[in-house]
Amino acid sequence: MQRIAVVGAGTMGLGIAQVFSTAGYQVTLTDVSDAALSRAFETISRNLDRQVAKQGISPDQKTEALSRLATRAQLDRAVADADLVIEAATENTEVKLNLFRQLDQFSPSGAILATNTSSISITRIAAVTLRPAQVIGMHFMNPVAVMKLVEIINGYRTSPDTTDRIIALTGSLGKTPCVVRDYPGFIANRILMPMINEAVYALEENVGGVEQIDTIMKLGMAHPMGPLQLADFIGLDTCLSILRVLQEGFGDSRYAPCPLLVSMVQAGCLGVKTSEGFYRYPQDGSPKTVSPRFTVS
Ligand code: NAD
Repeated sequence: MQRIAVVGAGTMGLGIAQVFSTAGYQVTLTDVSDAALSRAFETISRNLDRQVAKQGISPDQKTEALSRLATRAQLDRAVADADLVIEAATENTEVKLNLFRQLDQFSPSGAILATNTSSISITRIAAVTLRPAQVIGMHFMNPVAVMKLVEIINGYRTSPDTTDRIIALTGSLGKTPCVVRDYPGFIANRILMPMINEAVYALEENVGGVEQIDTIMKLGMAHPMGPLQLADFIGLDTCLSILRVLQEGFGDSRYAPCPLLVSMVQAGCLGVKTSEGFYRYPQDGSPKTVSPRFTVS
């Protein structure tokens, strides 16, 4: 597999495109939003500058990586010659089902179609295509360039050949594949999201403030980041969607999203990507501060 198409140029899509182009693959990145596409290219370029500064890659490697990366607004053209398509669009079932119908139609019949979904059933996504044996979950972690794990999810009909090829490809990126079964939230988010949800409940019930909750989990449990900061980083809309998939998938109210999380998403406070969630992230790059919403008792 040499030609990779990445669909969705948000937080994850741009990271996935960056990692593949740095590793020597030919990458085409596409999005419904032209603004997202140009922002993604600029962000990748800045990220590679940082890697050059840290001497992780040479200036020539940066130039070569960018030369292997193309952006295309039209989905059909972006995937027309792909060996592998990785979908990293918004975490919404209808969006993904619609996309996979189109990907099945526009990409070569031999191509593997992977989804970076955090929680939506791979089997359900595969069922809208005529090639369910070639559909698989390839769940990268955020930030993609840094995190070593890729959770690989086999749908009901995913073939062993598809899984083997994706395992080998993951290894070629210097990452560790971990294969799991298709089940709501898979492993990563089945365990992570209830923790984040509980942290939001603790905040809503005023058991502690944003800083207390995050400090306790950072210093007490040796987590690199507190759960509220991590939720901001993932995107509160994405966290909410995942919790709803868990709630529906298990039919269990213990996964019901905390009303505060729902309100924040309704208010458009989605975390880092909108510059405000539990914290505020100044545009000028100065350090984050707790959102004023949570500093008044
Ligand atoms: P995001 O909101 O940052 O970006 C989503 C992008 O998808 C946007 O640019 C949007 O314009 C685009 N998009 C929407 N509909 C589209 C379509 N029909 N065709 C093409 N592009 C479309 O979201 P994200 O955080 O990058 O998440 C993307 C996927 O990755 C989701 O499935 C999410 O669950 C998963 N994921 C996210 C994280 C995380 O920490 N944010 C981690 C692992 C996996």
